[in-house]
Amino acid sequence: MSYASRTHHLKPEGAYQVLARAQSQETSGRKIIHLEIGQPDFETFDNIKLAGIQAIKDGLTRYTPPIGMTSLREVIAEDAGRRRGLEIHPDQVVVSPGAKPNLFFPALALVEPGDKVIYPNPGFPTYEAMIRVAGGIPVPVPLLEEKGFSFDLAVFNHLVNDHTRLIILNSPSNPTGGVIPRADLEQIAAAAHLHNCWVMSDEIYSRIVYDNLSVPSIAALPGMLERTIIVDGFSKTYAMTGWRLGFGIMPKELADKVQLLLTHSVGCSAHFVQVAGVEALMGPQEQVDRVVAEYQNRRDAIVAGLNAIPGVTCQRPQGAFYVFPNFKSFGLTSSELADLFLDRVGVAVLPGTSFGEYGEGYLRLVYSNSLENIALALDRIRQAVQSI
Ligand code: PLP
Repeated sequence: MSYASRTHHLKPEGAYQVLARAQSQETSGRKIIHLEIGQPDFETFDNIKLAGIQAIKDGLTRYTPPIGMTSLREVIAEDAGRRRGLEIHPDQVVVSPGAKPNLFFPALALVEPGDKVIYPNPGFPTYEAMIRVAGGIPVPVPLLEEKGFSFDLAVFNHLVNDHTRLIILNSPSNPTGGVIPRADLEQIAAAAHLHNCWVMSDEIYSRIVYDNLSVPSIAALPGMLERTIIVDGFSKTYAMTGWRLGFGIMPKELADKVQLLLTHSVGCSAHFVQVAGVEALMGPQEQVDRVVAEYQNRRDAIVAGLNAIPGVTCQRPQGAFYVFPNFKSFGLTSSELADLFLDRVGVAVLPGTSFGEYGEGYLRLVYSNSLENIALALDRIRQAVQSI
């Protein structure tokens, strides 16, 4: 059998592979601490669950317009106004089942075969996958540890040119937790204007930020709204990963194209899930603040614990729930280290290379886990590295 060449480069996400290995060890009785899967460890808030249940009882179980229910799109537009200081019309909002279709479909709508697409490396694996499926040429830009994992702007400025169709940003970032400072965004925006490129700004972690930081959106810089796709969603902020609800904000003409791709692929997002999304945005937000404060305690604990292990250095991320410590001094590859931690001490983490070649020498640890488990994992990692 042969398969279409657009599938040749597709790889599974590392997180699911490590999870499967960890689970198979658990079935034989081992106790594993899971720091590999990037999702909140708390439940969807009760008011959101109840809104979804009530919507099912009310019979809201049919198709909606592919682009999403008007009431949800209005609320998302208002929220973007409040949080990002943008003036958004609901026509610019595209609702999707999870944020991922709002990465994939705008890329399909914009990128012609042979177009270059700049993206962060280490970065979320879907970026490279969607660039390749669209026939584009992936152009990875390294993130610099010493710059809190912002873009290496010298490399970026060297690589961006008139063949660049799209620049993908992710701040706060998966896998590093790094935030791109405003000064860097200004330089990236200037390049986007100069070379007439689109920007896709994946802001799915924009509500999970620490130390009272406010994360700027590149879309709010002068002249950028008309060339930017903001990607966001409910999975991380409201612990709704399995509900599948996300959205994109983009110029109306592009939204119309993305709506066509949704029409002919997923159809629409589930009706009752969209009703739950309205409740998520309109209901009490203190619970989000409470969870973010809890993540901040865990971040402080894991960063301090990692830096206390001789040979490990760990930046203090400003957002998301990931740390990306540097283990280069041990002379093993990221994969060897991740295997060692799982097989020898039962701690599941991801090799930095699951996020691209510039992740070599690093590991990604997810700290959406209890302080007790984090402390135990740190003890076990300390033991494991002593044996190297
Ligand atoms: N973007 C980033 C950076 C992510 O880390 C994730 C999920 O891990 C997504 C997008 C996808 O979110 P969703 O589960 O809502 O599709």
